[in-house]
Amino acid sequence: MDIQNLIRDNIKDLKPYSSARDEFKDFNESKVFLDANENPFENGVNRYPDPQQLKVKEKLSKIKNIKIDNIFLGNGSDEILDLIIRVFCEPNQDNIVTLPPTYGMYEVLANINAVKVIKVNLSDSFQPQVEQILKASNEDSKILFLCSPNNPTGNSFSENEVEKLLKSFRGIVVIDEAYIDFSKQESWLNKLNDFPNLIVTQTLSKAYGMAGIRLGACYASEEIISILNRIKPPYNVNELTQLKAIERLSKPKEVSKEIQQILLQREWLISELDNISFINKIYPSDANFILMKVDEANKRYSQLIEKGIVIRNRTNQPLCKNCLRLTVGNDIENKKLINAFKSIK
Ligand SMILES: *Cc1c(COP(=O)(O)O)cnc(C)c1O
Repeated sequence: MDIQNLIRDNIKDLKPYSSARDEFKDFNESKVFLDANENPFENGVNRYPDPQQLKVKEKLSKIKNIKIDNIFLGNGSDEILDLIIRVFCEPNQDNIVTLPPTYGMYEVLANINAVKVIKVNLSDSFQPQVEQILKASNEDSKILFLCSPNNPTGNSFSENEVEKLLKSFRGIVVIDEAYIDFSKQESWLNKLNDFPNLIVTQTLSKAYGMAGIRLGACYASEEIISILNRIKPPYNVNELTQLKAIERLSKPKEVSKEIQQILLQREWLISELDNISFINKIYPSDANFILMKVDEANKRYSQLIEKGIVIRNRTNQPLCKNCLRLTVGNDIENKKLINAFKSIK
C-alpha cells in the first residue's frame, strides 16, 4: 500500500512552521539563547519545551522497544486522533469507518473536520464484522478506527479479525490501545513492521495514572510519523507534562503495582456484582472498567447518584440497551459502590 496516495494534497505540499527550537536543536546551558523571545529569568518554565520531546521518547523507546523515529506524542491521544484525521481525510469528501458501540471521540473529531462517518456495528459478541466493514467502506474511506480493548464494551478484538482488516482495508487502520496495559492480549505494537498502514495509539491517561497531564502517544512507520510531525502545533506537549511523564516512566514498578491492584479489584467487583439481583449480565473486561446490563439502566443510574456514586449510563449506545459502565476504583470506592448496589431496590 502506498501511504503517500492516502495523504491529502495540501498536507503533502505543506511547508511546516519552523520554530526557534526546530532551527537550533541543541538546547544546552553553554549557549546564549536569544532566538525565541523568551523571558530570560529562570523559573523552570520560562523556556519553550522541546518540540520533539526527545527525553520522553527515549523513555518510551526503551519501555516499548520501539525506535524514536516511530514515536509521536500529543496533547492526549485525542489530539493525535485529530491530527491523523487531518492528515488523511479531505473535508466534505473522505470518510472514516467506526465500529459502534465505541469511543465517541472518533465521530466527534470527524464531525469537526467535516469528514463523514461510516458506522458498522460490532457483532453481538462485540467483535468487528470484517465482511460488513469491507462492504460498507469505499474508495473515500481513509481510516478505520479499531478500539481494542474497546470502550465501552471492555473486550479485546480477536487477533484474527484485526489481522484480516489490516490486510484488506484500503486505508489507514488505527488501533486505539488506551487500555492495553490492563489486557491479556499482546499489543499490536509488535506488528508495526508487518503493516505499513497501522497506527497504534496509547495514552498515559489510564493505566499510567496521568490523565491530568494530557499525554498520548502513537506508534507507526517513520513515514507516517514524519507527516504527523509536519502538521503538529510546534509545542504541543508542554514542559510540565514532559517532566511529569519522564518521572512516571522512570518508575515502571510503581505503575505495574497499581495495575495489578486494579486487576484484583476488577475481579473482586465482578464477583460481588454477580450477586446483585437486578444486574442481568456482566461483560468480560480486558480494561479498568466493567460494562453490565441491568433491568432499568436509567433508574439504577439515578439511584446510584442519589447514593453519591457516579458511573456512566451507556443505554443509548448501539447494542448497549440498559447497560451501565463503571470504572474500577480503589478498594474503599469499590466497597462503597457494592454497598450502594446492595441497598437499592
Ligand atoms: C480515554 C480514552 C482515550 C483518551 O485518551 P487521552 O490520551 O486522555 O486523550 C482514547 N481512546 C479511548 C478508547 C479512551 O477510552
